[in-house]
Amino acid sequence: MERIDGRKTNELRPIRLLTGINRYAEGSVLIEWGETKVLCTASVEEDVPPFLKNSGKGWITAEYAMLPRATQTRKKRDIHRLKLDGRSSEIQRLIGRSLRAACDLSLLGERTITIDCDVLQADGGTRTASVTAGYVALALAVKKLFAEGKLEQYPIRQAIAAVSVGIVQGVPMLDLCYAEDSKADVDMNIIRTDAGGFVELQGTGEGNTFSEQELQQLLDLGKEGTQILFEMQNEALKQANA
Ligand code: UDP
Repeated sequence: MERIDGRKTNELRPIRLLTGINRYAEGSVLIEWGETKVLCTASVEEDVPPFLKNSGKGWITAEYAMLPRATQTRKKRDIHRLKLDGRSSEIQRLIGRSLRAACDLSLLGERTITIDCDVLQADGGTRTASVTAGYVALALAVKKLFAEGKLEQYPIRQAIAAVSVGIVQGVPMLDLCYAEDSKADVDMNIIRTDAGGFVELQGTGEGNTFSEQELQQLLDLGKEGTQILFEMQNEALKQANA
């Protein structure tokens, strides 16, 4: 089956990770993932939430938002609706959980790293782009802390990357753009570690149910995609340090 943009079923959209795009943040990355664009910054604060006070442990948390014109029609800022968008709050919790899995929090010391993910333009896969670029921003901030001698041991244990997969017109495929996502029968976000484990699977049969065999096909596509993302993350981190 021909995909909307001519990709193979196991092919990612073109992806670029640009680091160091904010002069103030301890880590910053702009990810361009096809037509999806997300700016991720990592900010370090020498404090932890109340439940971690005097625990010796650090914390990693995330915030996610879409700019009004990230979408085809203007989306009102939350402040004008006087509430946090339910979708955004679900997504930011996913990003926070995913990125905490990268790190041994007891080695971070009592400090918080906040990953802010702001979607400049959305075309499907904004949460997976946020996790993937958020990891790079986090790693940059942690490297900076380590270089400054603020950490005794390097706390990052594994890289984290995420990709979407789905079944569109009966065909399992990797990395759905919005046009594919909006007509997908099954839609799944896969968050993995470079050590081979899964951090989270968000899979829904929206238009149809899916079989165990299809689930396996989706997981295989997700593994293939995240493997490439780990290489891209490594490359971006290497270049940022050069
Ligand atoms: N979308 C939109 N307006 C919204 C929410 C979503 O235009 O308020 C589009 C956008 O392109 C987004 C896609 O729908 O990337 C899929 O949204 P979903 O909630 O599945 O999250 P995502 O795939 O971005 O992680």
